[in-house]
Amino acid sequence: MVSRVIPVDPFDLVVFGGTGDLARRKILPGLYRRFRDGQMPQQARVIAAARSDMDEAAYRAEIRAAIEEYIAPRHRDADTLDAFLSRVGYCAVDADGQDGWPGLAARMRPDVVRAFYFSVAPALFGSLAERLHDHGIADAQSRIVVEKPFGNDRASARALNETLAAYFDETQIYRIDHYLGKETVQNLMAVRFANILFEPLWNAQFVDHVQITVAETVGVGGRGSYYDGAGAMRDMVQNHLMQLLCLIAMEPPHRFEPDAVRDEKLKVIRALDPVAPGDIVRGQYAAAGGMTGYLEDVSNPASRTESYVALRVHVSNWRWKGTPFYLRTGKRLRARSSEIAVTFREPPHSIFGEDASWRENVLIIRLQPNEGIKLRVMIKEPGPGGMRLVNVPLDMSFAQALGPEGADIPDAYERLIMDVIRGNQTLFMRGDEVEAAWAWTDPVIAGWESRGERPCRYDAGTSGPEDALMLMHRDGRRWREIAP
Ligand code: NAP
Repeated sequence: MVSRVIPVDPFDLVVFGGTGDLARRKILPGLYRRFRDGQMPQQARVIAAARSDMDEAAYRAEIRAAIEEYIAPRHRDADTLDAFLSRVGYCAVDADGQDGWPGLAARMRPDVVRAFYFSVAPALFGSLAERLHDHGIADAQSRIVVEKPFGNDRASARALNETLAAYFDETQIYRIDHYLGKETVQNLMAVRFANILFEPLWNAQFVDHVQITVAETVGVGGRGSYYDGAGAMRDMVQNHLMQLLCLIAMEPPHRFEPDAVRDEKLKVIRALDPVAPGDIVRGQYAAAGGMTGYLEDVSNPASRTESYVALRVHVSNWRWKGTPFYLRTGKRLRARSSEIAVTFREPPHSIFGEDASWRENVLIIRLQPNEGIKLRVMIKEPGPGGMRLVNVPLDMSFAQALGPEGADIPDAYERLIMDVIRGNQTLFMRGDEVEAAWAWTDPVIAGWESRGERPCRYDAGTSGPEDALMLMHRDGRRWREIAP
């Protein structure tokens, strides 16, 4: 299989926060890979911006080290790296003050796409937009890329939308959710809408339930002070899990185009029922197996913030009435594993008798690790001795199906940045979508705050709180195992 790489138009991409963690780990290494594959054109340039006073040589040395750290040796070579770095510059700019802006303005070239990646703290998003506008750096064709978190609740998200709208049209604003850039997530849409097989069964009549799991092994790490004010519901559910739920539950858009897709996702969010208190389990990891506990990690012994949340969610529309969606996400769990599992109902009658106990078909969309899609089907166990059935996977792992190139799939960030340059907003969240997601999330959080609930404890390195098992057991179902 030879992949087709279509170069994008020449661009100037300014990465505000160019010395930060995200820029070093994801944005610059991702751009290197796009350059290596011929998608970033020779005339393209990247200008990193931050307050630190450093010359370009020092910045390039930092990025060389970052690429050597985050890109495997077999995917890089010295000449390509030199050629890439010659297109990378640095400009000291204060997002919050006046320093550096005329210098940045002077570096921008006419007649190329201008994109500005806001990889800085959210408190700086508004001042960056204002200064780009006031200094005449952004024009009507320019794009801004806004990182998460986009607000902390509906009111703050709306205020941020209004601030950005004062300087940029909605068609210029790219609110990034890197889950939408994952190859499998886009494949989910291909599987649903490019095949006749699944869509006729994609409703409450045939789907028993859906599980969406985003499990992490890491704790809060260096993000403790941010995370303790947010928790799993704000940090993961309002954005990533909600986006995955939308792609599973939405109606087929009339075309694979930005507003057609986003209109359908918005309808799903608006169809979500409020979550009943009994349909929520919150957890907080406790020290175990040599790992520290949450309270210690955030240096806040009184914290009631959840590092785990599981929810039973209902989409109240004709298609999904009666099919629950179970969502769970957490830190310090037993394995890093993100997947969506669509479990179909059992056949109405078994001609093989009752001993064929496990008759479910399950479509498993695996986001990480080992991206791929599996369909579990029933077949006959080989050999003589009668008709014994087994449930086996039909495996569509990219590495197996597409050869070595299937395994070397672009990281979500690099794909999404190329979409920004191409001017394609399909995989980015629209302002009204984000606000609607908060409008659903806010009462859930307000509910447990008003009840003064404490999260239940779970040992680090396990599958999460016992109570989360009950969320499914009482419905006669069980969570899939969290496995790498
Ligand atoms: P970080 O490591 O703290 O980096 C922040 C960057 O902002 C640095 O380059 C810093 O450089 C720059 N900066 C701070 N104040 C500035 C100012 N007044 N003017 C110009 N530059 C300024 O943060 P990060 O982890 O890279 O995160 C960046 C954004 O991405 C945040 O919104 C975060 O929520 C989001 N995000 C990050 C990750 C991740 O994995 N890291 C994941 C998802 C979302 P100077 O100090 O030199 O100015």
